[in-house]
Amino acid sequence: MDVTELLSALIRFDTSNYGGGRSAGERDCAEWIADLLREAGWEPQLWHRDDAPDRVSVSLRVPGTEPDLPGLLVHAHTDVVPVETDDWSVPPFEGIIRDGYVWGRGANDMLDTVAVLLHTLLRWGRDGTRPRRDVLFLFVADEEDAGQWGAHWLVDEHPELFAGLEVAIGESGAVCELLPTADGGLARVYTINAGERGTQHIRLTAQGTSGHGSRPSGDDAVHRVLHALVRIADHEWPLTMSNVVQGHYQGLSAALGVPIDFDDEASLLRLVDWLGPQAGPLRYILRPSSTPTVLRAGYKVNVVPGLAVAEVDVRCPPGTEDFVHDTLGELVGDQVSYEYITRGAPLEAPTEGPFWDAMVASILAHDPQAVVIGGCMGGGTDNKAFARLGMDTYGFTPAPADPEGRVAAGYHGVDERVPVASLRGATQMMHDFLHTV
Ligand SMILES: [Zn+2]
Repeated sequence: MDVTELLSALIRFDTSNYGGGRSAGERDCAEWIADLLREAGWEPQLWHRDDAPDRVSVSLRVPGTEPDLPGLLVHAHTDVVPVETDDWSVPPFEGIIRDGYVWGRGANDMLDTVAVLLHTLLRWGRDGTRPRRDVLFLFVADEEDAGQWGAHWLVDEHPELFAGLEVAIGESGAVCELLPTADGGLARVYTINAGERGTQHIRLTAQGTSGHGSRPSGDDAVHRVLHALVRIADHEWPLTMSNVVQGHYQGLSAALGVPIDFDDEASLLRLVDWLGPQAGPLRYILRPSSTPTVLRAGYKVNVVPGLAVAEVDVRCPPGTEDFVHDTLGELVGDQVSYEYITRGAPLEAPTEGPFWDAMVASILAHDPQAVVIGGCMGGGTDNKAFARLGMDTYGFTPAPADPEGRVAAGYHGVDERVPVASLRGATQMMHDFLHTV
């Protein structure tokens, strides 16, 4: 099967993940993947929690020809975020191929990579190609929520699956971007994500005495939680440059010919402004961030509620995890209690060594004009789970630009689509990487 047909078939499984354990389920998709692999001569394994038979992940460990080499994990999630069908110009779960794109939910997050990896495995099954080192392929459930039915559960309950693996590669990274250079040209930049900001999602709870709205205490639950939120939202977090963030800025500065000076924050922001909407997370990886996102209190305008709850999305660049934790405690203060909803450490992996070199080489082999840099993500991925096992982790799903100018779109939005040319190129780059690493 051609990689576009594989992606199209994958999109036809509705694996919508609504969060909090509510999901259309990944079982049908996982069984289809496993059946394909069995037909190609492989023996995949299926995994799910006892209490969630529909949340199925698939693993396949391919033995390397040089088994003493440290092993590699390659993971891609099979769940997708929900759709609001009415806003789409095509049906989101039909996998339509039209105008040089494959359309549908998951087309670039990240059923495209599932298709690319399947394509490699089917080819290896047919022609007997084997990687040098052991490679564990993992098609995992529940990335679009907290990974409790997928990556984090597998790491907690089946760490033996990952024995001997030193490096993990997963989503978000190394997709070609055409970025404007200072001399009026376009650089072909591939950013392999070697870092992720950490996640500290917290819930604030304020207690007070409920009563009549006409008799304010001046210190009720809503008032308390608002004061804490204003301190958190207004806090000016300091600039924090870890190696991976510095490397990201240096790499872009050199590629684009836009000078920066790490002692002059304005010069860093000029680089961000230069890129405009193409700057992605660049502005946010310079420092921690704390964004109130949920507020709950009260039910009637003349009743003072006894309880107010808020949730805050806090992110911390590499090297700032403890500092951010301590500062949050001070900002929350002693009138409000708080707890962690999720906590994931920031990640930072080396931008050198044999794995790095193989990633770079697989891109250059197909795009000799490519500029490959290491970068840091603003948010997190399933790599947070695998890093807990001590693996170095990268966002590496290489894909070239479409020569006719189409670009992938609709990530977590409407009309999600991926250019066929990028998908085909991705298949070659990934195959090369897996074969030579
Ligand atoms: Zn994703």
